[in-house]
Amino acid sequence: MHTIGHFIDGARVDGTSGRFKDIFDPNTGAVQSRVAMATPAELDAAVKSAAKAQVAWANTNPQKRSRILFAYKALVESHMEELAETLSREHGKVIPDSRGDVIRGLDVIEFACGAPHAQKGEHTYGAGPEIDVYSMRKPLGVVAAITPFNFPAMIPMWMFGMAITTGNAVILKPSEKDPSVPMRLTELFVEAGGPVGLLQCINGDKEIVDAICDHATIKAVSFVGSSDIAQYVYARATANGKRAQCMGGAKNHGIIMPDANMEQAAKDILGAAYGSAGERCMALPVVVPVGEGTAERFLEALLPKIDAMTVGTSTDPDADYGPVVSAVHKASIEADIDKAVAEGATLIRDGRGFTLQGHEGGFFVGPTLLDNVTPDMETYHEEIFGPVLQIVRAKDFEAAVRLPSEHQYGNGVAIFTQNGRVAREFADRVEVGMVGINVPIPVPVAYHSFGGWKRSAFGDANQYGMEGMRFYTKVKTVTQRWPEGETEDSAFIIPTF
Ligand code: NAD
Repeated sequence: MHTIGHFIDGARVDGTSGRFKDIFDPNTGAVQSRVAMATPAELDAAVKSAAKAQVAWANTNPQKRSRILFAYKALVESHMEELAETLSREHGKVIPDSRGDVIRGLDVIEFACGAPHAQKGEHTYGAGPEIDVYSMRKPLGVVAAITPFNFPAMIPMWMFGMAITTGNAVILKPSEKDPSVPMRLTELFVEAGGPVGLLQCINGDKEIVDAICDHATIKAVSFVGSSDIAQYVYARATANGKRAQCMGGAKNHGIIMPDANMEQAAKDILGAAYGSAGERCMALPVVVPVGEGTAERFLEALLPKIDAMTVGTSTDPDADYGPVVSAVHKASIEADIDKAVAEGATLIRDGRGFTLQGHEGGFFVGPTLLDNVTPDMETYHEEIFGPVLQIVRAKDFEAAVRLPSEHQYGNGVAIFTQNGRVAREFADRVEVGMVGINVPIPVPVAYHSFGGWKRSAFGDANQYGMEGMRFYTKVKTVTQRWPEGETEDSAFIIPTF
C-alpha cells in the first residue's frame, strides 16, 4: 500500500513511529493509502532544519523572496490538474471545486508577492530635536501551521504564504485525512527555488499537535479546525508563550428579507448550503426567512432546485457535490438528522441512507432540508458540517438580527434584500465577523482578511491580508540621534518634547 511520510529538510522521508492512519477514497469507502504519524523527535529534526533556513531567508532581501513566490505561483498553476485530482480523490469534493481550493490559496501567494511594499515600516524624521524614530517588522522565526481536512490547498497557503513572505520558516501539519496535496505543495516550493528547510510538512495527530504547542523554538501557531480543538490549541500554545490564531467552527445564517429576489436567493443558498457537501466553514446551513409568507415563497423556489441536484463521485462532471470525507463523518451527519427530527424539526428532504449505484461503499449523504427549526433545539446550535439546510423562521428584522448575533459561532452571515438601508443596518449590528449582502459566501479576497467572531476564532489576528503580515512579524522601533559637539548633562526626568 502507498504510504505517505513527511517532507523534512528538502526531501520526502518515511515515518519512524510505526504508527499510521488510513486515508480513504470517499467515493468507494476503500482505504487508498496510509499516512505516518510523526514523533516529537521527527518534529525536532524538522524544526532544527527550519531554524537554520530561516536565518538566511530573513537576511534575503524582500524582492528576492518575492521572486521565489512568483515562481512558486506559476509552478503550482502548471500542476493545477494534478493537484485538483489528488485533492478530489482524498477529500471527495468535485474537481472544479478542488481547482477553486487551489486558486483561492494562490490568491494569497499572489498577495504575498507584494510584501516588499506592504512591509515597509514607519519613519518619522525629526520626532524630537534631531531625533528620528523608525520601526521595522521582524519575522518571528519558526512558526507552525495546523490545518483542517476541508481546504487542504487553500488554508495551508493562507498560512505559509504570509509566514514565508515575512521572513519566517514554516512547519506545516495538515489534516491526516487528506495530506497528499499539502505534501505536494511543500515539495513544489523547493522545486520553485525555495530554500531547503524553509517549508516542511510533518504528518500526525494530537501527539504532534501537542509537541508543536510545546516546542520552544516554534514562536507562533496558526490553526484552523473545529472550535473545541481550536480553543485547546490556543490555550496550550499561548501558555507556552507563543502567538496563536486559532480559527474554529461555524454555523452561518442566510437572512431572507421579504423583498429579496427570491429566485436568486434560492439559487445562492442552494450552492452555499450543499456545495462541497456542506463541508465548508463558510457554508450557509441555516436560512432565516423573515416575515409572513417568506418561508413559503422561499420553499417554492428552493425545492425544485434541490430535486434537480446531482450527487455523484468527485470525478463526475455532472455532480453538484460529492461524498463527505469519512464513514465516521457520514454517520455523525445522519445522527444529527435523527436528532433534529426527534427534537421536532420538520423533515422536508431526507438525505439519510443515500447510496450511489456502483459506489455503495462511498460516504454519500443526500441533500437534507429541515423546516421549523427553533433556537431551543440542540441541532440548531451544533455545527453539522454536511449537506443539511435548516430553516429557522423569524417574525421580523429584529429577530433575524438576534439569531446569528446570539449564536455561539460568528464566522459568516448573509442577508438577501433589495433594501440598502436594511442591509447597511444589518451589517453594522450583527455580531459576526464576515457579512455578505446578497453574497452567500462572503470569504474576503486575499488583500482583505479572514476571521470570525465568538467561538469561530480564538486570538485576535485574522488570516492573511495585512492582518496576516502583522501576525507573523514583531515590531522593533528605533529612536536615534547623532549628537555632535559638547556633551549634555544627565537627564533624570523622562524626556518630553
Ligand atoms: P479538526 O478540528 O478535527 O482538525 C483540525 C486539525 O487539528 C487537524 O490538523 C487535526 O489533525 C488536528 N487535531 C484533531 N484532533 C486533535 C486533538 N484532539 N488535539 C490536537 N489536534 C487535533 O477539524 P477538521 O474536521 O479537520 O475540519 C473541519 C472543521 O474545521 C470544522 O469545524 C470547520 O468549521 C472548521 N473550519 C474552520 C475554518 C475557519 O476559518 N473558521 C475554515 C475551515 C474549516
